[in-house]
Amino acid sequence: MLDTPHPTPHAPTTDCFALARALSGVNFIGGRYVPAASGKTFPVVNPATGAEVATAAYGEAADVDAAVQDAARAQKEWAKMPARKRGALVHACAAILKEHQDELGHLIALETGKALRTESRVEAGVVADIFEFFGGLGSELKGESVPFAPNVLSVTVREPLGVVGAIIPWNVPMLLMALKVAPALVAGNTVVVKSAEEAPLAVMRICELMNRVLPPGCFNIISGFGPECGAPLVMHPKVRKVTFTGSVETGKIVAKAASEKLVPVTLELGGKSPMIVFADCDFEKTVAGALTSMRFTRQGQSCTAASRIYVERPIFDEFVSRMKAAVNGMVMGDPLDEKTDIGTIISQGQFEKVQGFIEEGRATPGATAHECSAMPSDPALKKGLFLRPVIFTGLDASSRLVREEIFGPVTVIQPFDDPEAVLAAANDSEYGLAASLWTNNLKVGLDLAHRLEAGLVQINQNLVVQANLSYGGVKSSGLGKEASLEAMLEHFTHKKTIMVNMA
Ligand code: ADP
Repeated sequence: MLDTPHPTPHAPTTDCFALARALSGVNFIGGRYVPAASGKTFPVVNPATGAEVATAAYGEAADVDAAVQDAARAQKEWAKMPARKRGALVHACAAILKEHQDELGHLIALETGKALRTESRVEAGVVADIFEFFGGLGSELKGESVPFAPNVLSVTVREPLGVVGAIIPWNVPMLLMALKVAPALVAGNTVVVKSAEEAPLAVMRICELMNRVLPPGCFNIISGFGPECGAPLVMHPKVRKVTFTGSVETGKIVAKAASEKLVPVTLELGGKSPMIVFADCDFEKTVAGALTSMRFTRQGQSCTAASRIYVERPIFDEFVSRMKAAVNGMVMGDPLDEKTDIGTIISQGQFEKVQGFIEEGRATPGATAHECSAMPSDPALKKGLFLRPVIFTGLDASSRLVREEIFGPVTVIQPFDDPEAVLAAANDSEYGLAASLWTNNLKVGLDLAHRLEAGLVQINQNLVVQANLSYGGVKSSGLGKEASLEAMLEHFTHKKTIMVNMA
């Protein structure tokens, strides 16, 4: 219920540059835009040009405290509202987000460098879908009756946890935020989000849009850096649940801090997802599937990206050559241009990190780096963080490129000869987020699906997160699930037992 004047337009706009300026220098707390208590800001950069397009409020402990206190006040009333009504409001948010899909697509393309047509607009659509899905689940917050004794009524009820602190990364910030905010709200919690320093704008606009229907204080967002803003959010005494998506390293810091307060934590961390291609697969479908699985349209900046592809030897050469041709056909360019397939890397630091992996791969004896696609020629993009995708062959299991998460447009393709060997190779990883198998032999496929160490295994497809399907990893890929009814019940409520002695 946004009532204070603010510079952002009411109607959807695709002038993302003007919108970015209007969103500058503020957090969204208690139903309104407010600058950081210190007045400090930091720049938001368009990675396709290097130009500063906005500033973001430099959130610190004082801002976190203001947001959490507002969220805690709002939570008392929010939790009293009938669950279906909360769901209806979240559903109404989804309708507004749908109207703003194109706008949000443009804005996220501007700040992250992800191509509008292949990635950014799609992400905005999925976000609306996630809110719509969870908006319908209010009536599923059910408890049980427990057969304790004939004269004692014994029931369980699902109660919200309180204020949820959510910390999100920059790669798919709107979607990853939706996976936390939607179930948290429907379950009766209120939320304070700490956005990623590289991508604070589109998530802020989503917060504003949703505050058109949510009571003030239910959904707040602060921009800022990890140690100054994320850490105080995790440690705030009134935050009763922490949900985090990001790196394994930071995830461990967050989990440790939350454990000091004994609050539950959900962690969605990295991945090194294997894609296993058998010679009997539907070849054309698999080539097309691999192209999307590698997430090169997102510059490989995805934890579910098929970053190690194992191909049965008889079709290995043909597969590699088809993949090279397919990636060569992708257009790298201005993320806001509808013709663009591949945009930019998010930041200079990430750019250098990915380049380091590529150089290491090139220097490995026996390895071949197949550089694909062409750099954009537009002089306006000469400072952009564009990086040609690379397909490596000739690397083995000991390579850092096979073992570590690169989070860039780099895939390693390796041949295999037998299902047991490829299963062992696929499971030989600290990660366990997602995996895909491509075969027409469903007996082999299902057998391997059961034995792959991953939270999500898909046969003959490799879709991104879908509403209603639990998503989350094992091993170092994380703790807990998102995106489903079970995830909402398990991670955003607790079960209270109530007993009535009627004797
Ligand atoms: P990435 O490499 O994707 O930036 P991080 O795990 O560093 O991964 O960042 C994910 C999110 O975690 C970001 O919003 C970041 O600001 C936040 N973050 C970083 N350090 C901390 C910390 N010590 N405590 C809480 N949040 C943090």
